[in-house]
Amino acid sequence: MTSGFATPARVDVNARPDLHDTEVDAIVAALADGQYGHGVWTDRFEEDVARHLGVADVVAVSSGTAALHIALLAAGIGPGDEVIVPSLTFCATIQAILAVGAHPRFVEVDPTTLCADAPTVLAALGPATRAVLPVLYGGRAVDLTGIQDALDQRGIVVIEDAAQAFGSHLGHRPVGATGLLTCFSFGPIKNLTCLEGGAVVPRTKREAAAVRRLRLLGITQPQTERVRATTYQVAQFGLRATMSAVHAAVGSAQLARFPAIAAQRKDLWRAYAAALHDIPGVHLVDVDVEHTVPFNCVIRIPHRDTVHQLLQQAGIGVGVHYPPNHLQPAFTAWRRHLPVTENVGRQILSLPFHPHLDHRDVRQVARALRGALHTVSP
Ligand SMILES: *Cc1c(COP(=O)(O)O)cnc(C)c1O
Repeated sequence: MTSGFATPARVDVNARPDLHDTEVDAIVAALADGQYGHGVWTDRFEEDVARHLGVADVVAVSSGTAALHIALLAAGIGPGDEVIVPSLTFCATIQAILAVGAHPRFVEVDPTTLCADAPTVLAALGPATRAVLPVLYGGRAVDLTGIQDALDQRGIVVIEDAAQAFGSHLGHRPVGATGLLTCFSFGPIKNLTCLEGGAVVPRTKREAAAVRRLRLLGITQPQTERVRATTYQVAQFGLRATMSAVHAAVGSAQLARFPAIAAQRKDLWRAYAAALHDIPGVHLVDVDVEHTVPFNCVIRIPHRDTVHQLLQQAGIGVGVHYPPNHLQPAFTAWRRHLPVTENVGRQILSLPFHPHLDHRDVRQVARALRGALHTVSP
């Protein structure tokens, strides 16, 4: 089998992982080893990702959410601290902020990119601001270099939610290798999948050690040392957020195929851009495909809810990413008026986007979309 594991799902699903025989073989090999927790496969995956990005170190964790939670803890963000974050993100970003006892300061996004830009972040800084958490929506890098000095002067740390941005670049530098504390997700539908998983790219050796303690219950010894010793040291608070051997094995196999995965995602996004450009009322959210490995293909349209329903009925796996967080019941304490985000939240639609699709599928989705838009406003 070379073209994907199991029955290929096509336009009827919004996203799904693309597993090949190499991933399946890696799972079997990891299982055969009999060590299922954090182990040599995990260490190897960390080395593979670090080499791929061209960075000194990467710490694998159990999910993207855990990566954000642990990165915030490692950066010393805690109770009373304010974290600037766009409202338009997966709710996991916000829950990670709450998990450390900090609170979100929701900001607007640029409706053409769905990312928060530097002037917006700068304007939102307040006396309690301790961190900025840019979300690399759709995989697009967020450039805060213009305000980095201003942030440094106030002791504000930047922690990137690059859950969707594995493989993307800021200029010529890979996301994760720009010197910022960066968090990736390797969840089931992300650009690179471990089925479940995530990673933190630490800025220093000290930070790397802190992240490793935080992901393993505050224990200082690595697993390989601990199994040979009579005791271990619990030095601090810690979570249980290690990455298992099986997940790491999938990740390393995916990484070996990543150039092809990245090329396919870029090609698919470009095919959508070509197929959608003359459909009246459709605004394609720009991912900067030159520099980005697209995570999704998102459009802004009128009558979104009706079009969503029509396309679902026609068997097209459309979705919405995401309902704005500042309007969620759990986050009402930090609600503010964000008219751009509220507007965008009513317009966005995610088209089917995963490596099982080809150009014919893209044309089928575009035809269905054109038909649905014509139905709602002839
Ligand atoms: C997927 C995602 C997360 C969370 O990652 P998990 O691996 O699912 O925990 C966080 N932020 C964004 C923007 C995501 O897309």
